[in-house]
Amino acid sequence: MMLNDKTILITAAGQGIGAASARACAQAGAHVIATDVNADLLAALKGVQGIETRQLDVTDGKAIAALAEELPDLDGLFNCAGMVHHGTVLDLTDGDWQAALDLNVTSIMRMCRAFVPGLLRRAEAQGSAAILNMSSMASSEKGFINRTAYGATKAAVVGLTKAIAADFVARNLRCNALCPGTVDTPSLRGRIASAPDPVQAEKDFIARQPMGRLATVDDLTPTVVHLLSDGSRFVTGQTVLVDGGVTI
Ligand code: NAD
Repeated sequence: MMLNDKTILITAAGQGIGAASARACAQAGAHVIATDVNADLLAALKGVQGIETRQLDVTDGKAIAALAEELPDLDGLFNCAGMVHHGTVLDLTDGDWQAALDLNVTSIMRMCRAFVPGLLRRAEAQGSAAILNMSSMASSEKGFINRTAYGATKAAVVGLTKAIAADFVARNLRCNALCPGTVDTPSLRGRIASAPDPVQAEKDFIARQPMGRLATVDDLTPTVVHLLSDGSRFVTGQTVLVDGGVTI
């Protein structure tokens, strides 16, 4: 199987894309360390073959450093955690901006800083290791209304990814960014439900997808598995768009 003998840590694995990725990586043969800030959500993954769960708030730098000390070296790291701030630049408070930076960007820098030494040891021993960072089509790829903090922070993820890829390319540690289109997840359902007109909000989300439908998490997981596997061993520093054609 594609991920046999690989140990892979995934953040925000309690629901949505992270949870589906944890299951898909385990099915592909990996030992998955599924982490999330919400221990109740992780309970749904307990007992799934190939998955162990750990509570981790990725905005807590000390907790990240402590977990990296404790865990064995990783072969793969999927930094999936992130949040959407809805609004234009006129709606943004300094606090909103900082919260988006903390969760969408700083957490990924800290996860990489903590886990890259172990990933490099595995890359040296096995010939490959991989980081996958969650960006979005709403980033340096394309602008969207009401996504100022989101688009800026997800663009920063692309820059961070390319810089890490450049630093470690000669040592067989790859680093790529995943840029999904609109995916049907609990957080998207929450954004739809909290809109002034939820029916129209769902239509608007679907209308920006040229295939006429939202992505399911299963539209994304084959790409997640691929980018963490040796099948993508010549792919690094890339933004991989799984957006149903939005950016054609
Ligand atoms: P979601 O929002 O439905 O779930 C997010 C998970 O993150 C939850 O389990 C939550 O407990 C966890 N989480 C929140 N704060 C955390 C923290 N501080 N530390 C650890 N975990 C934390 O998930 P989703 O919609 O699948 O989104 C996952 C990622 O994909 C995000 O980075 C998001 O920006 C990105 N993304 C989503 C879409 C989409 O349309 N859903 C599109 C492009 C990119």
